[in-house]
Amino acid sequence: MAGKDWVQLMAGLRSTLINKAAARSRQEAENFPEIVEQRRAKILAEIGAAEKLAFDPAMSDDAFWSRTCTKPFYAHRPVDRIRQHEAEMQARLGNYRDFLGTDWEPDTGRQFRAFLDEVMSERDYLEKVVKAARTLAQTKVARERTFMEWLLAGADPLSWEGRRKIYAKLASHLGYGAVTTFHLMMELGFAVVKPDQVLNRLVARMGIMTEYEVRNERTGTRRWHPVESNMTTAMARQLGQNDHFNWSLQRRMAEISKATGISMRALDIVIVKMGQVDDEANGYARTICGETPLCSLCEAKAFCDLGRTGTTKQGKRRHVPAI
Ligand code: SF4
Repeated sequence: MAGKDWVQLMAGLRSTLINKAAARSRQEAENFPEIVEQRRAKILAEIGAAEKLAFDPAMSDDAFWSRTCTKPFYAHRPVDRIRQHEAEMQARLGNYRDFLGTDWEPDTGRQFRAFLDEVMSERDYLEKVVKAARTLAQTKVARERTFMEWLLAGADPLSWEGRRKIYAKLASHLGYGAVTTFHLMMELGFAVVKPDQVLNRLVARMGIMTEYEVRNERTGTRRWHPVESNMTTAMARQLGQNDHFNWSLQRRMAEISKATGISMRALDIVIVKMGQVDDEANGYARTICGETPLCSLCEAKAFCDLGRTGTTKQGKRRHVPAI
């Protein structure tokens, strides 16, 4: 796809979210225009906030930690459900200093064990968060600098090499998985997207990713691996663990960002919201590009591979009247 088509694809997706995802049906749009308008305003506000998200090298430790402490909970879960608990999680986990004493020593600390026992169902995630708090605080004590300064040391965030170093540093120190680490980087303002199951499935469907580069670091040879266009959720999830795919995806999205003038964060929001489960609290009353995509409603259809060709692995697309 050429740069001009990226512009039209993204404009079509954005317009579809605002005009179609905000209403459950044509009848609802006609009978309850005020409700639909309120949802549109929420969608526009979210996209606007994503467009404004700026990288801040002087970010405070508290701001850094508030983005870090809840990210593991979003892994493989519907975003609307986790978002409802964001304030609660921030109240409980939002101060990294709470986890620094010997009582919070992983595995042996009294408070650490009591905390995990109290909330057994979230044990893995909580364990990661407590360990991350302690690791970040230790780097601070040792070097007397902010978390962001620690992260940026020796890495230029504007270069690919720098972003890879930042990713590797976060992954090795915090122990979060690949998708969660990209999610955190994105929320910290770095120009990346998060390769979660929804984004991966949609970029394959749309023809944004048709292949990815596999580079042999030892020999320097490169080959191209095809991306399955009709991807199942399991395949999309697995792809998010593939380092080669993830970095090819970052480069492709950077290319689209450059062609369209839309930030990486906003690209992620616009594409993912097309395929995520309904999230009415935030204005998305209907999923347009879910398991069975509603292509007849989609204003990006002419610029999307699946929209043009017509079938998915799950079966024929459902046709509903356009509103
Ligand atoms: S698959 Fe259909 S609904 Fe999804 S982006 Fe393409 S045209 Fe739109």
